[in-house]
Amino acid sequence: MSERAAPFYCPYCGDEDLRPSEEGGGGSWECRACSRAFRLKFLGLLAPGAAGSTPSPSPSAAPSASDGGTP
Ligand SMILES: [Zn+2]
Repeated sequence: MSERAAPFYCPYCGDEDLRPSEEGGGGSWECRACSRAFRLKFLGLLAPGAAGSTPSPSPSAAPSASDGGTP
């Protein structure tokens, strides 16, 4: 697996004029439009089921007066 990932757009200004930069030890890119340098870092793969997780510890929690609606 390649360690490099090429961004298509600058995350700051959205321009496409990016060029790789060797500053910072690789994986760095420079935007020619806004003169920003940034680095992409691969953090890892998501665990199965991590994407679109809907944490709902209490699905039966009906809206009650505990939220300060009616005393
Ligand atoms: Zn930019």
